[in-house]
Order: sequence, then structure tokens, then C-alpha cells
Amino acid sequence: MSDPRRTKVLIIGSGPAGYTAGVYASRAMLNPILVQGIEPGGQLTTTTEVENWPGDTEVQGPDLMVRMEAHAKAMGCEIIGDIITSIDFSKRPFVCQSDSGTEYVADAIILATGARAKWLGLPSEEKFKGFGVSACATCDGFFYRGQEIAVIGGGNTAVEEALFLTNFASKVTLIHRRDELRAEKILQDRLFKNEKIEPLWFHELDEVLGDDTPLGVTGIRVKHTDTGETRDIPVKGVFVAIGHAPANELVKDVLETHMGGYVVTKPDSTETSVPGVFAAGDLTDHKYRQAVTSAGMGCMAALEAERFLAEAD
Ligand code: FAD
Ligand code: NAP
Repeated sequence: MSDPRRTKVLIIGSGPAGYTAGVYASRAMLNPILVQGIEPGGQLTTTTEVENWPGDTEVQGPDLMVRMEAHAKAMGCEIIGDIITSIDFSKRPFVCQSDSGTEYVADAIILATGARAKWLGLPSEEKFKGFGVSACATCDGFFYRGQEIAVIGGGNTAVEEALFLTNFASKVTLIHRRDELRAEKILQDRLFKNEKIEPLWFHELDEVLGDDTPLGVTGIRVKHTDTGETRDIPVKGVFVAIGHAPANELVKDVLETHMGGYVVTKPDSTETSVPGVFAAGDLTDHKYRQAVTSAGMGCMAALEAERFLAEAD
């Protein structure tokens, strides 16, 4: 086993919150270590155009995250490809175990583990995951050239995924449980103007239909939300885009959470219920869940960690 890595500030997560915390903690001369986790760059690496990052009328999500990583590194943040598997919150310094076997010992921790796609929980969804069922259009859309596919959901992600998938698919059916989308109006306009997309209102996914050999999707059974009537639609792919849940596995038994698992922070602060542990971004934000708000919270967390360490010394 390698020697423990000692740091004043350990940042867990490499989305906008984590990298921004890295920039600010580095500039405060705290020599932070940032552990990237299984998805370096976070959720924005799973999308294409980002049109609401200030300063860029349009930027590709993965490019923006490469730039954020380079910025944090240039300021002096040490960035490590590893996954934190547990944190001992019982005493300071906090001791974290990791997937690589390295132990990280930190005087303060900034949690920026973000959020992950939610699934419907249907057995058939589980069976065909990776074989026609996906939660990432940018990752898997290319496989559906000239095919008919379905997207489930009515938020920004569902509408963006449906629009993106029209680059490949011959037809996209957007299945939503209401007749009103939650997505921003600008995205709705684009959706309704796109002739390849057909919305199917008041329907839910009941079952994914498919073959066993080879394993693959052939269609979906959808159910009317009022009448319960079902019908089958032939599709080759199903993209589930029903929202995201906070990635709270490391902390849910220790830190206070609310609203479906979001870590509670003090008002106007990133302080959690454990002194020296700060939470930023989608892990704590059930309301806005945007790149720019996550980055803002990453900044707050680093400034608060600096103040905490100065007072503790
Ligand atoms: P995330 O980006 O979720 O990153 C979390 C990080 O934590 C990841 O790097 C992960 O590897 C790491 N991590 C998790 N667990 C561990 C662990 N145990 N150890 C170490 N690291 C760990 N927002 C916008 O403002 N504009 C957009 O156009 C936009 N488009 C979007 C498109 C899609 C498809 C999606 C899914 C989201 C989009 N969002 C958009 C929302 C935006 O991506 C999020 O609000 C933002 O990424 C949250 O940032 P974050 O830093 O909190 O966490
Ligand atoms: P979301 O806004 O929570 O929307 C989830 C959608 O899925 C809703 O329409 C919801 O229906 C539907 N849904 C939820 N559970 C369902 C179920 N069990 N069965 C059927 N439908 C279900 O999630 P999101 O679209 O992933 O967005 C998450 C956050 O990221 C948001 O803050 C969003 O603004 C942000 N984001 C931003 C952009 C951008 O700025 N361009 C792009 C993507 C994401 P109801 O509407 O009926 O509740």
C-alpha cells in the first residue's frame, strides 16, 4: 500500500463545483488535492452544447470541463484519478479510503460529488441497460443511425437528448407523463419545431420489449396515465431522462440530508453538520442544479474551508 496523502483540503469530485473549489483553494495557498471519481469532468461531459455558461455563447460540455481542469491545475491544484470509497468523519484530520488503496488524510473536506441519472426501476429496463436502454444520448446516440427511438421524461435533459438524437435517429418519440414540459421555453420551441420528434403526452413506460439472443430492444409498452390503456411502439433504443439524484453514498449515513438525499448546508453557506466538511454543487442543491450555481458553491466552499482552517490553527 502507498503512503497516506496528507493535505489541508481534499476536494472530492471533478465537476464545476470541484474544479472551482480547486482554483480558489489553490489561490489561498492551501495546496488542495482533488480526487476526480469515476466521471472526470462530471455531468457536463455527457452533453454537447452548453449555452448558459457566462462568457461562452456556446461551448461543448466536455471542452468546458477540460478547460476547468486545466485552470485548477495551473493554479496549483493536484488532480488525482481515483475514487473515494469511505470517509471517517469521527475525528479530524479526516481519513478517506480510496479505490486505488491510497489513504487521503485531510484537515478539511469539500464534497462535490454531484448527481447521477435516475432510473425508473423496471426489471426490463435493468435487463436491457447497455443493450438498447441508456441514460446518455451523447454516449450512445451514434448506435441508432436511421432507427426509431424513444426518450422518457419532460425536463431539460429529456428535451436536449431528444433534439440531439435527431442527428442519428429517423424518429424520436418523447414520452411524458403530463402534457406540459418542465424544460426551458427555448428548448421547447426547438422541440416542437423539429419534425423528427413526436411527443406522446400522458404516457409512462410500462415495459421495455426485446429479444434475448442477441440481447436487444425491439419496442416499448407504454401506459396511459389516466386510462391505464397500454400500447406497443416499435423502437430500437430507449433513453431514460427522468432527472438526477444526489450522489450521496459517501455521506448519507453521517450528514443530514433532505428533499430526497440532498446534503443539508447552513443557510447562505456550504457548511455541513460536521465542522470542517463543506458541500457544494448538485450534491446539496435540489433547486437550481446548474453548472454556474455549482461553480459558485465550489467557490464558497473553498473560501469557507480557508476561513475554517485559519480559525482552527
Ligand atoms: P457533477 O458535474 O455531477 O460532478 C460530480 C463529480 O463527482 C464527478 O466528477 C464524479 O466523478 C465525482 N464523484 C462522485 N462520486 C465520487 C467519489 N466517490 N469519489 C471521487 N469523486 C466522485 N447545467 C447547465 O448549467 N447548463 C447546461 O447546459 C447543462 N446541461 C446538462 C446536460 C445534461 C445531459 C446533464 C445531465 C446536466 C446538465 N446540466 C447543465 C447540469 C450540470 O451538469 C450540473 O448542474 C453540474 O454538472 C453539477 O456540477 P457538480 O460539480 O455539482 O457535479
Ligand atoms: P428534471 O428537471 O428533474 O426533470 C425530470 C423529468 O422527468 C420531469 O419532466 C419529470 O416529470 C420526469 N419524471 C420524473 N420521474 C419520472 C417517472 N418516474 N416517470 C416518468 N417521468 C418522470 O431533471 P433533468 O431534466 O435531468 O434536469 C436536472 C437539472 O439539470 C435541472 O436543474 C436542469 O435545469 C439541469 N439541466 C440544465 C440543462 C440546461 O441548462 N440546458 C440541461 C440539462 C439539465 P414531471 O415534469 O411530471 O415532474
